[in-house]
Amino acid sequence: MKPIIQFKNVSVHYERGKSNETAALQNINLEIFEGEYIVFFGPSGCGKSTLLYTIAGLETATEGDVIIRDENLKDMTEKERIHFYRGTIGMVFQAFYLVSHLSAKDNMMLSKMFAGEPRRDRETKAQELMDKFGITPYADRKPSMLSGGQQQRTAIGRALMNDPEIILADEPVGNLDSKNAETVLELLSVINKKEKKTVIQVTHNPKDVHYADRVFYMKDGRIERVVLNTDEARAAHEHHGELSEFEKLEQANPNLTAAQLRAKFIVRTLLVPYDIDTEQKIESAVARYIQKEITEAELVRFIDDPKKGAGLYIQKAKRLGKDIEGIVEEIERIERTKRDARPDAENPFESEAVTIRKHLLDSYQGTMDSRQIHALEQAIEYRIENKITSEEFKEFVSESHAHGGLGLNKATAKKFGKYLEVLLTK
Ligand code: ADP
Ligand code: MG
Repeated sequence: MKPIIQFKNVSVHYERGKSNETAALQNINLEIFEGEYIVFFGPSGCGKSTLLYTIAGLETATEGDVIIRDENLKDMTEKERIHFYRGTIGMVFQAFYLVSHLSAKDNMMLSKMFAGEPRRDRETKAQELMDKFGITPYADRKPSMLSGGQQQRTAIGRALMNDPEIILADEPVGNLDSKNAETVLELLSVINKKEKKTVIQVTHNPKDVHYADRVFYMKDGRIERVVLNTDEARAAHEHHGELSEFEKLEQANPNLTAAQLRAKFIVRTLLVPYDIDTEQKIESAVARYIQKEITEAELVRFIDDPKKGAGLYIQKAKRLGKDIEGIVEEIERIERTKRDARPDAENPFESEAVTIRKHLLDSYQGTMDSRQIHALEQAIEYRIENKITSEEFKEFVSESHAHGGLGLNKATAKKFGKYLEVLLTK
């Protein structure tokens, strides 16, 4: 499927060349597909409105390409751009922007885009929308006689008069109480699901993201990560009913204790397959190490010992011993933090994420810039906190940069994901 909106290395600077130059957007890459409900979420000043206005053609990219429906905005004249937008984009703002002396219905019909079209046609269209969205009962009232929610519904109706493919909504419920906010968000969701419009909504409020298929988290002019939000979106991206590696292992070995199971999982993850005999010997030693029955030195000696132990080369045994020690320590650290962290602690797993990231990158051959490193740490934190599934973590690692991922290859994603699962099995 082709994206309806594409950003390629887009930056937007305000006050360019002046002392107060602001980089509102920095090297944004994204793809949005037809029919998606997208939310851009982030704190005030992070660049959400700028991003929306850049899609809307109200702001111009200082660098990079904005491609909408295969049209690069750069290649269009001002006139072409205006014409193009008429049929493509409808906008909704936090401050409704209704004309105060006109009725709700006339506000809807005001749309300049209809210049030259018979009033009858406009009226039919307006009536249709008002019926669909429950505006008809107050069609003749002026904005001052409408609740905030009703005003915003009218403004949404107006945005739809030209039947655009994309609805852009900048903090559409920012001025509304929670009940009205919910009605308006629901309306946007209906427009997305029933009218098949691509909806892009901006918010700083985590309460307002729940209808989104994907949420783009923004910070300091950048997209930090992209999260699949709905069950549907998850289902579409997940492999249904597939058990995790650990669950498979658990099912295949119902008689093992927790320590034995974990030992098996660790050994399977760290070791290229050996003969069953050798693996079992190592596993039982690791289980004893997990339960603190033997030390790391004893574990290494056992793995190395050709007579009583598994008989691996000493170098291999030492490396394995070190890795297992690291993993078991990390598991304990995570569990301790889970147990002891104050409920209101911010990012309680930050330092764990850094340690894990360092470990993962130790054996990673490619290069990563600081932004990727930060994003990886963030994803590790979210995985530890179970905010994302193992599949989502792997997807994030292997997903292209344009899709908000790290852009590493599938094998690396699998390796990273597996290591994390070893740390996180109960
Ligand atoms: P958000 O919508 O997430 O609150 P904005 O896109 O409005 O963020 O702003 C991003 C950054 O760009 C902020 O630092 C803001 O001060 C700055 N900015 C926004 N609009 C302008 C403008 N017209 N001129 C100069 N700076 C601006
Ligand atoms: Mg804003």
